[in-house]
Amino acid sequence: MHELSIAAAVVERAQETARAHGAATVDAVRLRVGELSGVVGDALRFSFRLAAEGTALAGAELIVEEVPARAACDGCDAEFAVGSPPRLWCPRCERPAARLLAGRELELIGVQLAQPDDVRPPDREPCPAAPRSAGRGEDA
Ligand SMILES: [Zn+2]
Repeated sequence: MHELSIAAAVVERAQETARAHGAATVDAVRLRVGELSGVVGDALRFSFRLAAEGTALAGAELIVEEVPARAACDGCDAEFAVGSPPRLWCPRCERPAARLLAGRELELIGVQLAQPDDVRPPDREPCPAAPRSAGRGEDA
């Protein structure tokens, strides 16, 4: 299933981002999906929930930004919406000479982490000897 492999790849990349930033969980991921990418939004959302189960993305929101397909005519430079199913005909000169400008996107454009990065002054290294936590006890 097309959407499931996409969802799995998105979950994997978002988890890498979370790890790199020291965040335990991901609140939301944002995808840009073109009208002609062949991805079905509902199937993608369903697959995302499956792929996110048991990961840092469990319960994360999938935000899909849909990009309408647009094309331009080589003859008259008119830009027009292609629609779905796509029609690559210039509505002005009625010729099949259109360049696709947008609509095939499938990109992960944002990962919203549950915890922001630690804010540190750029010219100071964190002290490795700093105590990690207060109030340690044997009865935990
Ligand atoms: Zn034209």
